[in-house]
Amino acid sequence: MFRQMFEEKYMRFPGGRSKALTFSYDDGVKADVRLVEIFNKNGVKGTFNLNSLLFDCPSWHGRMDEEETYLTFCNRQHEVALHGARHIFLNKVPLPEAVNELVQNRLYLENKFQRIVRGMAYAYNAYNGEILNILPQLGIVYARTTHATHGFGMPENFLEWNPTCHHTDPELPALAQKFASDAPENELKNREPWLMYIWGHSYEFDDDGNWRIIEDVCGLLGNREDIWYATNGEIYDYVSAYRSLVFSIDGELAYNPSAIPVWLEIRGKVYKIAPAQTICFEKD
Ligand SMILES: [Zn+2]
Repeated sequence: MFRQMFEEKYMRFPGGRSKALTFSYDDGVKADVRLVEIFNKNGVKGTFNLNSLLFDCPSWHGRMDEEETYLTFCNRQHEVALHGARHIFLNKVPLPEAVNELVQNRLYLENKFQRIVRGMAYAYNAYNGEILNILPQLGIVYARTTHATHGFGMPENFLEWNPTCHHTDPELPALAQKFASDAPENELKNREPWLMYIWGHSYEFDDDGNWRIIEDVCGLLGNREDIWYATNGEIYDYVSAYRSLVFSIDGELAYNPSAIPVWLEIRGKVYKIAPAQTICFEKD
């Protein structure tokens, strides 16, 4: 076997896993309660993107009131993230108003849930270059679009985080089957880790009478040892820690300056690099 085929370094997820699964659901609606139950039963995790000035609009797809929202997400099993205070098109208001929309949303969620909130999903998938430029200044580190990749790659730009697909995507069953039955380790060269990222609105399951879709996906992909289940924010934090690794010029030493352990595969071996640790990879 040619050794140079395994010289490349590949990120691995916590525990050395090569696959991660995450979900993203928008708007904070009553059907989220049932969705959370399905997630919890199957040991999967998701991010719920919430508005903060629409608690009195139950006729809008069954939005939860303030108390229901708090009770659904206060236990920290899942992540809460921004979706704009009023669910407006951020690209159709003056920039200062868009800033206010996000700052007010972030302030509310952080104060209410007593957590740092740094993620979001664009309402109506609406954004532009100006919005992309201001997000880092507001401390927002990732933002989800609605552009399906139909793939398992990691995002190049977390501020335009394209999901694998929506839950009604006709390709979802085949993608989920591939994700369940195959793995990057089966590839000789393209051994990059896989992320499956599914998004939607839980009220769609009621409107379309298809809760079966999410029950089937979670049943197939949940409660497995070979998949890391994480919120969007946990994936962002982990990938950021991995990308902060420092290497010697010959690539044989790696230093982890972050506060969390990271895993890396080289020459077919998986290494765990603890916080503040420097390791030397085995030559063969
Ligand atoms: Zn929305």
